[in-house]
Amino acid sequence: MYFDTHAHYDDEWFDADRDEVLRALPEAGVSLVVNAGCDEASSRAAVDLAHRYGHVYAAVGWHPHEAKSWNEESAALIRAWARDERVVALGEIGLDYHYDLAWKQTQHDVLEAQLALAEELDMPVIIHDREAHGDCMDILRRHPRVRGEFHCYSGSVEMAKEILSWGWYLGFNGAITMQGARRALEVLAMMPTDRMLLETDCPYLAPMPRTDGRRNDSRKLPRVAEVIAQVRHTTPELVAEVCSDNGKRFFGLK
Ligand SMILES: [Zn+2]
Repeated sequence: MYFDTHAHYDDEWFDADRDEVLRALPEAGVSLVVNAGCDEASSRAAVDLAHRYGHVYAAVGWHPHEAKSWNEESAALIRAWARDERVVALGEIGLDYHYDLAWKQTQHDVLEAQLALAEELDMPVIIHDREAHGDCMDILRRHPRVRGEFHCYSGSVEMAKEILSWGWYLGFNGAITMQGARRALEVLAMMPTDRMLLETDCPYLAPMPRTDGRRNDSRKLPRVAEVIAQVRHTTPELVAEVCSDNGKRFFGLK
């Protein structure tokens, strides 16, 4: 079975056929999905999906791109959502310097606030770190009691070793099937099997080759597992099983 530990089925790209796609997943071998929130509306939508589909769970939080919409009520909203048993993590949260450099300090403040909430609520975090490795690591080192995962891991082998030494997990998706993924493949070759998570980040990051369009969904996870299996000299089926067990352990699911 496959566990897609990071998806965005609330995205408008699924507006035309969301129900159809989500219903088709179990039969296609995808037994579990965590839908990550990016702001108030998408976190609410994630919780809603998690209540509507037995195989979907929700993560709630403010993505660095949405840091500007964080306000005095946001923490209270997260506390309320966290009481819901279908909500299994805070995320996705983190830093992203690709577009938004002017809002660096706001991103730091919003990440800090959510890490404090993760400690208070004893919930794992899903970290989004794009082109912000140094600052992201500095902030996380100040929160040693928080447990979490880096989704779409894009850092170095050295950085991975430090994250793994905290007991954290690393998530991999279609990005590892693309050109320039050499570093991620090096990390995959050296890391312990019990800390790997499979994800899509769908509708984004459809794996290569994109023979059936640019939109991604959880049914394309086998392609990601195939690339990991090559690097680790094992089978995609075993990668899928181990990563599902890892995901269940990480999110505290049966
Ligand atoms: Zn995402």
